[in-house]
Amino acid sequence: MAIYEQILNKIKEYNVIIIHGHVRPDGDCIGSQLGLREALRLNFPDKKVYAVGEMSNYVSFLGKIDEVSDDLYNNALAICVDCGNSERLSDQRFKLAKEVIKIDHHIPVDSYGDLELVEEEKPACAQIIYEILENNNLKINKETATCLYTGIVTDTGRFRFDSVTSETFVVAAKLLNYGVNIVEIDNYLSVETLDVIKFKGYVLSHFKLTREGFAYIKITKEIVEKYNISYEDAANQVNLISTIPGYPVWSLVIEYPTEIRIRLRSRGPDVDKLANLYHGGGHAKASGAKLSSWDELKQFIKDANNLVKNYKKENLE
Ligand code: AMP
Repeated sequence: MAIYEQILNKIKEYNVIIIHGHVRPDGDCIGSQLGLREALRLNFPDKKVYAVGEMSNYVSFLGKIDEVSDDLYNNALAICVDCGNSERLSDQRFKLAKEVIKIDHHIPVDSYGDLELVEEEKPACAQIIYEILENNNLKINKETATCLYTGIVTDTGRFRFDSVTSETFVVAAKLLNYGVNIVEIDNYLSVETLDVIKFKGYVLSHFKLTREGFAYIKITKEIVEKYNISYEDAANQVNLISTIPGYPVWSLVIEYPTEIRIRLRSRGPDVDKLANLYHGGGHAKASGAKLSSWDELKQFIKDANNLVKNYKKENLE
């Protein structure tokens, strides 16, 4: 039986469905969670469907996350979207569910679903959600389409990343037919406060370049506090240093109140294996990882330098 049909059959089996995403969710995660929730509520009005975990300010215009009690999980199906490793799922109560479906587009770190649809080549999980709905002839309304379109727009860097294919544009075009207002979405996504603009100035004047060709910016929590911005807004500036010729790999390393996170990006060598060395993972050209302390940054820079050096040697750059 085709995977789409298997997923639909599981959905039909359960009266309670709880949709999980990952910690510090991005637009694709929230778009996939809320888009799927809306579609399931529309097609199965008698079922109780929830989306749980964290919210992201950046895409809060898409709707709200639900609060659910533990006992709801007893006979529930958990659908986990946009997350390659179970440790990273927001709200670990997915483990209490009777069955788990994983729907994702990351390079798998672990396999945590009873049923899994993982398509690494897809640029956004929201595109996979759309394909599940379409292949099962499920109804889609403007709210679902808006969430899924936002997921695709944000995870493709507004249709600029190399994982974008003609299929992605076809899905986006079909979503527009449900009344998605692309200008309104773009306006929401493009808002930048004066504090964020000033912080961008900080990043542009403090990033470091290594001899080997690695660009990075270190952001302590004191800096985030000084500029009076959210950690999310600070972390979102990773691509400010993405365009420098000769520096194909770049990182924004940021200290949150509880951990130090690396946002790692590349337009050259694959970086997911480097992220794996630092409790992370993700995609070949966009991964995330963690440092156990600032002392570890030196070693991370060394490893990033080696990766770039070898890449340049192999590509005669
Ligand atoms: P980020 O820099 O947080 O945008 O992460 C880039 C990509 O890597 C995203 O698709 C994340 O879902 C994924 N990612 C980030 N952090 C981790 C991690 N610790 N483990 C596995 N995947 C991660």
